[in-house]
Amino acid sequence: MTSDRMQCLICPGDRIVELTTKPIPDPGPDDVRIRIMGSAICGSDLHKYRQPRAERDEHGYSKLTLGHEGAGVVDAVGPGVTHPAVGDRVVIYHLIGCGHCEHCRHGEPGFCRDMQGFNWVRDGVNADYVVVPARSTLPLPDDFDFEDGALLACNLGTAFGAVRKAKASGDMTLAVSGLGPVGLYTVMFARAMGASVIGIDVQPSRIEMAEQLGIDATCNAAETDPVEAMREFGGGDGVHAAIDTSGFTQARTAALEGLRPHGVFVEVGIGEETVYKLSAPLNAREITLTGSWIFKLYEWEDLLDFLRRHKLPVKDVIAKRIRIGEAIEAFKLADSATTGKIMIDWT
Ligand SMILES: [Zn+2]
Ligand SMILES: [Zn+2]
Repeated sequence: MTSDRMQCLICPGDRIVELTTKPIPDPGPDDVRIRIMGSAICGSDLHKYRQPRAERDEHGYSKLTLGHEGAGVVDAVGPGVTHPAVGDRVVIYHLIGCGHCEHCRHGEPGFCRDMQGFNWVRDGVNADYVVVPARSTLPLPDDFDFEDGALLACNLGTAFGAVRKAKASGDMTLAVSGLGPVGLYTVMFARAMGASVIGIDVQPSRIEMAEQLGIDATCNAAETDPVEAMREFGGGDGVHAAIDTSGFTQARTAALEGLRPHGVFVEVGIGEETVYKLSAPLNAREITLTGSWIFKLYEWEDLLDFLRRHKLPVKDVIAKRIRIGEAIEAFKLADSATTGKIMIDWT
């Protein structure tokens, strides 16, 4: 590798990831270049990993750098950038909007009609360097390390946003279906907000992780009917809120069924295209069906303050720490859906 090239991870599909090199990018006007210090493998990367190669080639995704959960240090700034400055520690907000439309101005660039995602339109964060607009960086305070930063960028922020949507509180029972990293963080936030939480999965290892975190109840949906478990946990009528992080139709429909009247269902996990049968839940039980996509830019400080005040054991969800050279094996492990979070250390 010459000094003007960097290592990066690409994903051609068909369960293949490759380590390659690209030229180190230069920041354009209003851009910053970030030296990546921490990144991670996400469930949504696995969807790309499992995608057929021909499909990824057709859209031009196979050559783009993979990864959207990243934190690092600003290394260079383009013309016109006054903030952040070289040397600042930052987290990358991975839904990159135009910066000037109504949604971007409201701190919700995910709704921008010109939104650019990593490994979709742009090169992602599993590289030595990434260039992003200065407005897509969030300050990482000194009391959070780069590993925290990579978790905050997606999994922690996603869980926080979903639990807020469900309005979790101390007088509620809440179900979380899917106990992968986002599900486990959802459990943590919901319990810290006071809710009593039942977790549902089909993998004993993931149920065990939730139990170690002190969850109130669990259900292995491969052995016990999750709808019955939710109803019983909620005192007969069902739970007040359910959050699905699994992305599976069976889990989503069960979570919806297990809600009590006026219950709230929040869809978070990306996965199957579910067709919901909604007439009965809407008419006869007056449930609310909504979704939640990551977190909003204006929630950043709330998220940091919540973690500080509640001292959530966020690192307990980490199963493995790797260097980028171990990514091929790590993706195989993540693909098994039996493990906790896998972090990539770039320091
Ligand atoms: Zn993610
Ligand atoms: Zn916009």
